[in-house]
Amino acid sequence: MEDILLREFRTLVDVDGFESRYSKEIGNGKYFGFPLEPIVRAEKRLRDAKEQSIAYFSMEYGLATSFYNTFQSQNVTQLENKTPRNTVFSNYRVADYLFDVKVDSLIDMPIYSGGLGVLAGDTIKTMADFKLPALGIGILWHCGYFRQEFWFKYGQVPEKMHWDPYSYPGLIPLKNTVTIKLRDEEVRLKLWKYYVYSYKRDYAIPLILLDAETPDNREDIKMLTDQLYRSDNSWIKLMQRVLLGFGGVSAVNNLGYPIKIFHLNEGHAIFAFVEKARGLADKQVEELKKHFCYTCHTPVQAGHDRFSQDDIKRVLQENDFNLINKYGREDSGSINLTLLSMNIASSINAVSKRHQEVMQLQFPAYKDRIGYVTNGVHPYTWISKDYLELFKKFTPPIDDIESNPLSLVKVLGLKENNDFRRQIWLAHNANKKGLCSLLGKWKLKEDIFTVCWARRIAAYKRPSLILYDVDTLIEIARKVGPLQIILAGKAHPNDNLGFTFINEMMDKVDKLGDKNYDMLKIVILENYDIYLGRILTSGVDLWLNNPYPPFEASGTSGMKAILNGVVQMTTSDGWVVEAENNGIGKIFGYRYSEGKIGNEFDRSMKDDAQELYKGLEELAAQYYSTFKNNLSSKWIDMMINCVATGAHFNTYRMLDEYKNLIWDSCLEKERALKV
Ligand SMILES: *Cc1c(COP(=O)(O)O)cnc(C)c1O
Repeated sequence: MEDILLREFRTLVDVDGFESRYSKEIGNGKYFGFPLEPIVRAEKRLRDAKEQSIAYFSMEYGLATSFYNTFQSQNVTQLENKTPRNTVFSNYRVADYLFDVKVDSLIDMPIYSGGLGVLAGDTIKTMADFKLPALGIGILWHCGYFRQEFWFKYGQVPEKMHWDPYSYPGLIPLKNTVTIKLRDEEVRLKLWKYYVYSYKRDYAIPLILLDAETPDNREDIKMLTDQLYRSDNSWIKLMQRVLLGFGGVSAVNNLGYPIKIFHLNEGHAIFAFVEKARGLADKQVEELKKHFCYTCHTPVQAGHDRFSQDDIKRVLQENDFNLINKYGREDSGSINLTLLSMNIASSINAVSKRHQEVMQLQFPAYKDRIGYVTNGVHPYTWISKDYLELFKKFTPPIDDIESNPLSLVKVLGLKENNDFRRQIWLAHNANKKGLCSLLGKWKLKEDIFTVCWARRIAAYKRPSLILYDVDTLIEIARKVGPLQIILAGKAHPNDNLGFTFINEMMDKVDKLGDKNYDMLKIVILENYDIYLGRILTSGVDLWLNNPYPPFEASGTSGMKAILNGVVQMTTSDGWVVEAENNGIGKIFGYRYSEGKIGNEFDRSMKDDAQELYKGLEELAAQYYSTFKNNLSSKWIDMMINCVATGAHFNTYRMLDEYKNLIWDSCLEKERALKV
């Protein structure tokens, strides 16, 4: 029988090695077990010049493919594409020596490092849910970010990770290649595609991944797409950004997509503009700006990429350099990619209200042009199965939860409903059971108050705050009940300061020992990733977030937690500023005062640790009271407030704002100009 759909797919998408590798996976109406038709429809729409298509650029994508919309494959999963074993560092050292944590699952596609990547992944998924004519542009990182290993008495050892893109379900190499032009040489990039399906599998967004590992390239060029965010030297750093921007624009041209809007995440992607502007007259360059939108994700000064003029001159053609120098030069003479991005974009946005304030202070000349769209998380990736079932049981008032997460706000109407109160507690305990059984060898128990801090290790996030005075933790445990504390996070391999925090935490946990293990269990998990992130953000009782204000741009892990009724203990920073009056837990610590950015290395450790311990004691008491006087406890009220707050801090609300406030108005400006 003739497979018309397949024939259509193959005229639209030229798969490299289709017959030898993918003919069993694609065909008979299926794409790795998912319906093929949505891909064909999306590919056709993206080629239609009448559509207002969007190209979304990001260095990294965390798609959570290990547990969300996981593709099926006819082949057995290669060992290198499975989640490796991870060790644990705890104050129960015997267990650390004897056991490790093993999950039998596909690895999540390792082309992300953390929050930015998860946000990009969640955004693309929501674009699919909204059926937008959009695509993603990123890079195929052959060695991922890095694998974290713990060495006793040493700390974090970063290892390269290895995976096999050719056998990764849903990922396909294309025959298409693009060539980008530099000052003295050309670089060839191979293109890959991955399709991100909507929750209902009725639409798909192509994610195009660029790959420098082709036979035509020199060895040092091939290496550019091995590890994400390498910063060994400024050439590598610059080239990774050049590949994303130049390569991304060349790729959409090569694939025949008439893109209207280029959405750049961070200054990382700014070379997309340079590629588009090449050879244009000044007036046309002005016109081009109308097609570019820019989202800044960092409030830390060091987070804004800077290069010397020489760095750029050495790599790029003269005209490209001149354009960059014109729009991106700071007073110091350096080229600042944030400045460059702000000067060329028709729309600039921060990722929370607080972040907008901080950006406006840092760049007063741009004050009126800096807006904000607060981040969100993709609800169907991060709401656990038990919670989704719970919400479906209570329809109404929570109508249509699988199409409209904004209806979660209606849980507030269930506060007096004892059946709901009982069931939310049960659903939470089901999630907690999963976490405790994963860490069963460390004797983690479902009825012990469990706190988690898990995120990127960076100074301003104050990873070691909760361990400031371990004796106080034991005192609290004796007074109100035992504590389980879970910590996890990676420090960038070149972040020496970050490295010392991991050392400090291990040292304190080692000294604590297992004498009081029934009272205080502390486990540090190796290799924090999306998979662990999902288990932790749904399985613990309290989500701890203690950045030093105002340095957290948004933060998103707390948003994953609230969707699962996990109570927050947090400083007032990032997204929390917009939610702190919702009764979602305890807000504590140093407060940002208007107009004063301060120094991210001050950190106010002593005072904030004291407040943290005081709050922890209160919260633990409230938690334990739920077992005694059962359902009327304040703890369950907070859990419900958390879920209701999740109605706002998700990507459905976020994408509505991007669409209405940014992309649509970007197109209007463009149309107005043409009239
Ligand atoms: C959500 C997530 C992050 C971002 O968390 P923050 O709260 O922004 O620090 C980082 N890493 C992983 C693996 C995540 O899942």
